[in-house]
This record gives sequence, C-alpha cells and structure tokens, in this order.
Amino acid sequence: MSAFLLFRVQFGRYTCRSCLARLSKNAKRYCSSASSQSQLRRPNPLNKSKLSPGPARTRFAPSPTGYLHLGSLRTALFNYLLAKRTGGQFLLRIEDTDKKRTIPDAEKRLLQDLRWAGLEWDEGPEVGGPYGPYKQSERTEMYHEHAEILLESGRAYRCFCTARRLSELAEQRSKLGLPTDYDRTCANIPKEESDHRAARGEKHVVRLLIPDAYPQFVDLIYGNVGRTLKPGRRGDEAYEDPILLKTDGLPTYHLANVVDDHHMKITHVIRGTEWLPATPKHLAMYEAFGWTPPEFAHVGLLTDQEGNKLSKRNFDTDIASFRDKMGIFPEALANFVALLGWSHGSRSDIITMNDLINKFTMKFTKGNTTVTLGKLWFLQNEHARIRANDGGKGFDEMVDKVVELVNRNSSFGDYETVLGGRSLRDYVAKIIRADAKNYSTAEGFVMRSHFFFTQLIHPTSVTDAPGIPLLAKDLAEISEADWQPDRLKAKIKEIAAGAQGAENPAKELYHYLRKVLADGKDGAGVADIMTILGRKESLRRLGGDVLRSNV
Ligand code: GLU
Repeated sequence: MSAFLLFRVQFGRYTCRSCLARLSKNAKRYCSSASSQSQLRRPNPLNKSKLSPGPARTRFAPSPTGYLHLGSLRTALFNYLLAKRTGGQFLLRIEDTDKKRTIPDAEKRLLQDLRWAGLEWDEGPEVGGPYGPYKQSERTEMYHEHAEILLESGRAYRCFCTARRLSELAEQRSKLGLPTDYDRTCANIPKEESDHRAARGEKHVVRLLIPDAYPQFVDLIYGNVGRTLKPGRRGDEAYEDPILLKTDGLPTYHLANVVDDHHMKITHVIRGTEWLPATPKHLAMYEAFGWTPPEFAHVGLLTDQEGNKLSKRNFDTDIASFRDKMGIFPEALANFVALLGWSHGSRSDIITMNDLINKFTMKFTKGNTTVTLGKLWFLQNEHARIRANDGGKGFDEMVDKVVELVNRNSSFGDYETVLGGRSLRDYVAKIIRADAKNYSTAEGFVMRSHFFFTQLIHPTSVTDAPGIPLLAKDLAEISEADWQPDRLKAKIKEIAAGAQGAENPAKELYHYLRKVLADGKDGAGVADIMTILGRKESLRRLGGDVLRSNV
C-alpha cells in the first residue's frame, strides 16, 4: 500500500505545482489550497478496536429525493459516531443536484428526522459552518470553476454529442454485445475548437477523462478492492468517462461530491456499498485535481429475511413511520440501527447513545445485514426501562402519552372512581415504573394496564369465592401508611403459611390475587399492583365491602 500511496502523494504535489503555473486564476486558488492540504494518507482513526489519534471529519450527504430511512439513518449514525468518538466534526450536506427527482418536503423532513434520532450536526444547514453553504444547489459556481480546472489540465473534455447520438451508439453496441459506454468521439476535439463551440453556446456536457486503469484503493471494510473493479477503459473503444457537468450546467453527483468532500476537509466517508462502483471514478478525480482523497468505508446493504434489499415494496423503512406509526423511541432506533452490521464486542446489545460513542470502532461486517423487527421491540422495552429508571424527560413523555390516552378512552370512564381523588399523572407514573419492561407503545401499554383504570367487578358472592372476605380481612390489618410492597409481601407469606389443603399455597394465593386485582394479566408484581391501586381499591376488589367496617 505504501508505494501506491507515496505515488499518489507525489502525484498530488506534482500536479499542484505545475498547475499553479499553468492554470487559470481559479485553478490557482483551489490547487494552492490542495497543495497545502496534500499530506500522507491519514491513518484509520479507529482501526478495528485500536484507537489512534486524530479527529475525523465526517459527513452525511443525503439527496432530498427521498426521506430518511433505516439504511440512510445507519450511514448517518456511523459517520456521526466516528466523528464524536474521535473528537471530530459531523457535517450535514444536502446533495440536491437531481432536481427532477427532488421531493419538495424531503429536505425539511431529513433535518427533522435526523434531529429526532439524536444526530445533531456540527456544520450544515441551519447551523452554518466555515465551509458552507452546505447545500449543493448553492455551490454551482464552485463546481463550474472546478470543471474548468480539469478542462484546462486536459483531465476533462467537453462532449457535444446529442442525446440521440448517444442512445443510438448505446443501442448499436448493445446489439453487438459490447459495453455501452461512451466512445470518446469528443475527446479528440482540439481544445481551441471546443472552447470556441462552447463560447458560441453549443450544448455540451463535461466528461472526466478516466485513466486506462483505475487506481487501486484500500477500503476500510473491504480491504484492497481496487483490483477487482472494472478498469476505466472498457476495451473496444468504450470508456466510462463520467459526466461532471450536465447540459444545463448543473453538476452531477460525482463532481459535486468530490469537490465538496475535499473543500469541506472530510477525512472519512462511510457510505453504502451501492457507492462502491463509483469510488474509483471519484479517486480518479481526486488524482486529477491533485488532492488527497478521504478514507472510504463501504457498509453492506440492509436486507429482509429473504435476502431482498429493503425497499418501499417489502418494508416500511421510513424513519417517520418508526416514530409516528410504531411509537419507537429515538434511542431505541439508534441502538437498533447501530447493531446492523457493526460489532461492538460488549456483552449487552442494549447501548445508549453515549455508550455508542464511547464504544465505537470501525469493526463492520462485510456483506449484507438482515433486518428483523423482533430485536427492535426488545430494545424498545429495554430503553423504556432505562427511561423509567432515569426518570427524566423521556419518562415524562411516556407518562404524558399514557395519560392522554386514558383521558381519551371512553372505556376508562370510571378511572376517577378508582383514583378517588389521586392524581392521574402520579398514578400512571407508578404503573409505568412498575411495568416498564413491558412498555412497547403507549397504546399497547394502556391496553395491557386497563385493569388499573376500570372498576373491576369482583366476585363478591361468598359462594363464588368463600376465601375472599377472609383474605380481605387479613390484608385490611395493614394500615394505609404501611400499604407498601414489602409489608404486603410479608403479609401474603403469612396468610399462605396459615393456609391448609393447597399444594403450594403461596403460588395459589398470588395467582388468585392477580386474577381478582389485575384481571389475571401478567406484568407488574402483585404487591406492586396492590400498592399502586392503593389500600381502598385493592380491598374493594377483594370484596372488602363485605367487611365495610374494617375497610
Ligand atoms: N447523495 C448521495 C446519497 O444520497 C451521497 C453518497 C455518498 O455518501 O457519497 O446517498
């Protein structure tokens, strides 16, 4: 690798020095900055589990042609974690070069959803930064200047071929079973003639003159992948020369992406493997400019259980659906997404954002990752438990939602009688604390906790349940002030010890209490349920009204 890198660095310096003398004013401006940036290839800051110094500048560069989905959130998160782990910066850049496919509210939603997921950017839209603007449609002039630099140095050329000629060419070649790339007709047009035709307003695109073979490169996940990639020249006069500027003068993704990554001083690019085939072209462009490229890490695709790439057709991956339809917590989603193709090496999969940052390494799985939602729900329950333990804003949110649903649900009309003047908010907070590990969504939680909000009809008739009044009588010995889990558990134990005839009296007693107090539903412990319901309501459910004098 080192010989190759040395060549790249020398090549970079050589290009810059000569172009300083040769190129236009703009060329000088950019190349001199490139020259000062030329440096030995940066080390991987988090090579596997080893940490090496050096803050990473990373970016998430979505196109507003779609909303944030599971795959793009994962890409954003890995970039975010690398920057935060190394004390660097995480940038957000909007790559809106494809006007036709742009969705009007996508940009706004991308920002909103990223923030919701906890990924605040250090530089980018709405927050600014030293290398802005961070939206490609506001940087058009810069791309023109850079296309000009490559035209001047002969590393790019204008192509005047009409769309019709190109499609005929492609058709002919495909009939002959040949690659359909460009035949470089316009690469042979003398520079002066090309300048002249452009000045006259003749329609054209600008293409990069790809080298005969692409440089090899080291991907931080796939290793030395360069050798297996197709060469720039496809044989039989077909060349992959990508378009840099379109006929409307707007840049393509390739040009804008490379120019921006360079000028925004990006050191590491983590992106999906779908961009792997484009990387050699990008490297060819870095070489043509004389710039040191960032390090690349291409993460595998997300697939469903049948191995199909996740898409709108087989999986609702829109982040807003996880939030709005499923009620997933942002930290649970971030935790879930982080586990998709990254190995953390710790015992538990339950990881908070802070721990993700502290534990982050560049240990990714090669190849695709299957997404199953079971894991997401497991993490959701675990993060509900963390929220309930921490008792902060996240917990308040859970309480508010449940309170709202109880108020809205007409079948809970008599909850005020159950509460007997107590605060609904406090009551709900206690229920969530006692049963947080079973909290998946507010709706589901309200359903499973319905018995807390309705006056259950208890089997008061002595013939139905002859033991009830006695049980209520014994429990009623506990005063209001002592009505706490430990005291209740001790009393239940005592009652069970005195029971006769049953095989396992304690078990049967608990089972019975759960049936009468909680409609037989699983969840919080019986003593916790009794504490939350309160003395009065618990005894009432146990037929205590038969013992009115004691209650
Ligand atoms: N705009 C590209 C996308 O939407 C960015 C690819 C990259 O990270 O280079 O995915």
